[in-house]
Amino acid sequence: MQHEKSENSCAISITPLFVSSDIYKQTGFQGLHPLAISRIGAVEQFCRHLGWLAPNNYAATRPAPKQTLYRFHDTGFVDAIEQADKSGKVSAEVRERYNFGTMENPLFKGLFNRAATTIAGSIRAAEHALQGGIAFHPAGGTHHGRPDRASGFCYFNDPVFAILTLLDGGLKRIAYIDIDAHHGDGVEAAFADRPDVLSFSIHEEKRWPHSGTQIGCNAYNKCNAPVPRGLHDSEFDYLIDKTLMALLDKFNPEALVIVCGADALAGDPLSAMNLSNQALWRAVKKLSQHYNKAVVLGGGGYNPWTTVRCWAGLWGVLTDRPMPESLPPKLTQTLQGFSSDLVDEDDVLEEWLIQLHDTPRPVQPIRPEIKQIATQLLAG
Ligand SMILES: [Zn+2]
Repeated sequence: MQHEKSENSCAISITPLFVSSDIYKQTGFQGLHPLAISRIGAVEQFCRHLGWLAPNNYAATRPAPKQTLYRFHDTGFVDAIEQADKSGKVSAEVRERYNFGTMENPLFKGLFNRAATTIAGSIRAAEHALQGGIAFHPAGGTHHGRPDRASGFCYFNDPVFAILTLLDGGLKRIAYIDIDAHHGDGVEAAFADRPDVLSFSIHEEKRWPHSGTQIGCNAYNKCNAPVPRGLHDSEFDYLIDKTLMALLDKFNPEALVIVCGADALAGDPLSAMNLSNQALWRAVKKLSQHYNKAVVLGGGGYNPWTTVRCWAGLWGVLTDRPMPESLPPKLTQTLQGFSSDLVDEDDVLEEWLIQLHDTPRPVQPIRPEIKQIATQLLAG
């Protein structure tokens, strides 16, 4: 019995891998942009300080070469971003054609290398998953990126590259799961005619990018669950357990790519979902453990307190660390130093400063609309 158990645990997984780069500490959005907040560097700082990162579970990546980017992205678009970054300027024509150099998708110093590094990170994460492990790449999750244009704060689309890498590795069925508050439109579109890539997006209805409005799965395994405002933990658990797990059972994926945006959390200024970080952790842990080969990416997340706590804690959960009751003073200090133009100081909860985990939510009734969504998803 003991022998059997140890054999199983050897087969289950190799050490999870945290994928990042110093570039996220050096470059980034500026000024009033919703992403001009502390995110990836702080997540890494938290994980390091808690003793959750070591040389054997950390990989730093360098920018992906242009030849790699050309595989999905239009050469003119890739070259235009590189050129604009070099010159510090975007012409009106380029702005119009490729949708960057705008308020939404601004040009900032180091943009090209940063965006190309995110692609390399998701490729690295997928290579790790191919070996039978879980990789977490919090800077990834640029799920709105299109082949020839920037969209929704995303320039290139790293989840697409993670999926392509898994397919290159010989896997036959990949499931893309998007629990960011916004529809994973760029990834869905990239594999629109590929039934071997299932995509499942839970997102808030009537939100940008205003796609993924059709509840259910189409003939190509593209599934959408647009949910009403205020989605709470009990409803989210219900959708994951009752619908997503059942769909995946049927589809039988060989690997997962999960976009775990933190903007579905209560307190996010760009959405009105009401989840605790524990709900997201439960879902990602359950999915990645069940399917063993998993790439876990970040995504949206515009409240620096909830986003950093969510992703740092997620790494702890994925690596089976006990969650600290309270944070060391140094990390509380970091959280106290955060600021955001989009979150009112009075709305910063005490627990956002002193602990990683949100207080567990009480069990709440599932609204009929949510049950209806589950029924429609399972109908196909
Ligand atoms: Zn989002």
